[in-house]
Amino acid sequence: MAYSKLVKPGQRIRLDDLDTAEDGGLSKEEGKQLSAELSTRLGELQELMFAARETALLVVLQGRDTGGKDGVAKCLMRAMHAPSCRVVSFKAPTPDELARDFLWRVHREVPAKGFCTIFNRSHYEDVLVVRVRRLAPEKVWRPRYDRINDFERLLVENGTIVLKFFLHISREEQEKRLLDREKDPVKAWKLNVEDWKDRSLWDSYTKAYEEALRRCSTEEAPWRIVPADRKWFRDLAIIEAVGDALEPFRVRWMDRLERMSRETRRELEEYRRSMGQQAQESAGV
Ligand code: ADP
Repeated sequence: MAYSKLVKPGQRIRLDDLDTAEDGGLSKEEGKQLSAELSTRLGELQELMFAARETALLVVLQGRDTGGKDGVAKCLMRAMHAPSCRVVSFKAPTPDELARDFLWRVHREVPAKGFCTIFNRSHYEDVLVVRVRRLAPEKVWRPRYDRINDFERLLVENGTIVLKFFLHISREEQEKRLLDREKDPVKAWKLNVEDWKDRSLWDSYTKAYEEALRRCSTEEAPWRIVPADRKWFRDLAIIEAVGDALEPFRVRWMDRLERMSRETRRELEEYRRSMGQQAQESAGV
């Protein structure tokens, strides 16, 4: 069963109507057990993807502060073959980045075939924080939905699987996490006043997220909404969805690896034959 909600192209979403504390009818222990099994499957699939070098994987993580982007990135990195997988975090653009188009810094970081990149925040900030905090006028950010769709289509056409997750937490859960973090001696450094300022802009962010989800969930690069109040359920939903997206490629990647292995064996046999011949010639047979 799908533990995240797939947004259909053009579908209007009301985030307030979606349960953030969903547990899929599972206990925490059952959820963790299932996550462990699905993590093993994901690891196997990603190793096949790496060896076959035909497909790339881009995972986009978006959500409000404390929504769990770091936690999800960590959980995916634990499941996957580390040398072929990395996390890229997007902060406020540098002057150098601002002097280019908004996709420039993002395009440079997309994964090559065989590799996986996890975006912790992404090009979507350019229609979220930029819109809500009025960092650019509407005539600048509004055309970006179309540019984002064009950009993601280009990636998909070039063999990249694009998976986008909105980590959906409630207002109450966010407040609890912000306050807990403040009390935690080793986590309080992560906080800043901007988190509380953004919280006061909750409804404007909701509107901006709803529009991004509706306009940029496409057949080729759909959005999924992940109930994120329960960390174990959030991780399970993501591990499941990433594995499900890779699973249809399993047979194709295995076929390719078998073909590559046959070719390698043929070269080895040829090499041994030629070595045998050389040995016979030097023995004067
Ligand atoms: P995080 O909250 O992701 O753990 P930070 O606390 O450093 O990391 O926050 C990164 C900040 O960068 C966020 O406030 C985010 O809104 C901002 N940011 C990211 N991309 C952009 C962008 N394109 N324009 C403006 N601000 C951005």
